[in-house]
Amino acid sequence: MKPVYMDNNATTSVAPEVLEAMLPYFHELYGNPSSMHSFGGQVMKEVKRARERVATLLGASPEEIIFTSCGTESDNTAIRSALLSRPDKRHIVTSRVEHPAIRALCAHLATQGYRVTELPVDGEGRLDLEQYRRALSSDTAIVSLMWANNETGVIFPIEKAAEIARERNILFHTDAVQAVGKIPIDLGRTSIDMLSLSGHKLHAPKGIGILYLRKGTKYSPFLLGGHQERGRRGGTEATPSIIALGVAAELAQKNMEMENTFVKNLRDRLENTILATVANTKVNGDRQNRLPNTSNISFEFVEGEGILLMMDEYGICASSGSACTSGSLQPSHVLRAMGIPFTMAHGSIRFSLSVYNTDEEIDFVLEKLPPVIETLRGMSPYWKADARLCGES
Ligand code: PLP
Repeated sequence: MKPVYMDNNATTSVAPEVLEAMLPYFHELYGNPSSMHSFGGQVMKEVKRARERVATLLGASPEEIIFTSCGTESDNTAIRSALLSRPDKRHIVTSRVEHPAIRALCAHLATQGYRVTELPVDGEGRLDLEQYRRALSSDTAIVSLMWANNETGVIFPIEKAAEIARERNILFHTDAVQAVGKIPIDLGRTSIDMLSLSGHKLHAPKGIGILYLRKGTKYSPFLLGGHQERGRRGGTEATPSIIALGVAAELAQKNMEMENTFVKNLRDRLENTILATVANTKVNGDRQNRLPNTSNISFEFVEGEGILLMMDEYGICASSGSACTSGSLQPSHVLRAMGIPFTMAHGSIRFSLSVYNTDEEIDFVLEKLPPVIETLRGMSPYWKADARLCGES
């Protein structure tokens, strides 16, 4: 059975055009791009083209693009590099809703004598820029804030935040893993020094990412080795994946507007119908300032895991909290940071759509989901208690 896949913030399917473009680089064009022979040289030409395509999507120069293995590597590299290049500074500013790729590293750095400020968010998942401004100090080495949240889709005012950091001569990194390909980005017009991207969130394969490094930014490589990536990241280039990312970037650029209108319409229909037909539901996150594909909905008095398991029987794939934490029954750190009450946070489901979803799939979910919630609530002592309080049977 083909899944009804609504978990695209966890990962996306590789686009057919992307798969087709990468395949020759496994078997026919397998040369090492760094080799002297022309067999390798022709691969290097395509790596160069991929770099240009990614740079175009981001409004950057090709020399500012460093290929990495994933978003996590890019995030770790950015922060470690900033700290090494400014050894006199010991303070990091980030937020409470970052992905574990940032949070776990910052928690580790805190044990190594760095001071970490995790900025709070409000009930809608928004950042307060005044509070951010006040958190910066002469000891701050780097700010790292995500462009869009993976769980709620809420978009932070990253360009403004980067400007404020620039005024204070503080390096600014953004984890744009969920934003790239979904919102227009023109780095040349911003004060962002570093940006992380992950291929598998935009229809390229898993295991490829980039770190954008603004020209002139002091840099210290994370992986020391060969001279690849101008000595900024050792390791033989993952050529099939790099070429795939180039094609995915070009597709994202070409289709972003059209796809987003299509995906947003699907998302809004799904969300509005759920809110209208299922009692005690609420959207988590600022609905005005959100990625067009993401809807995080709380179903009060129900366990998110229970909803996922029952939907899974129909082949519907979504997520409760973030995919990276779905092994744990703790309410997600993002919803907790937003102050979402426990009974709501526990029953939250993230639907994240892509251009490969259809109207029929939305109809299917809208048919199957309400009875799932009704069944689960029928088994919930909290729901029954609440219904009694409200005078319902
Ligand atoms: N940052 C964000 C916001 C993410 O959503 C993810 C993945 O879910 C990552 C970083 C990590 O990316 P990767 O899986 O490529 O390491």
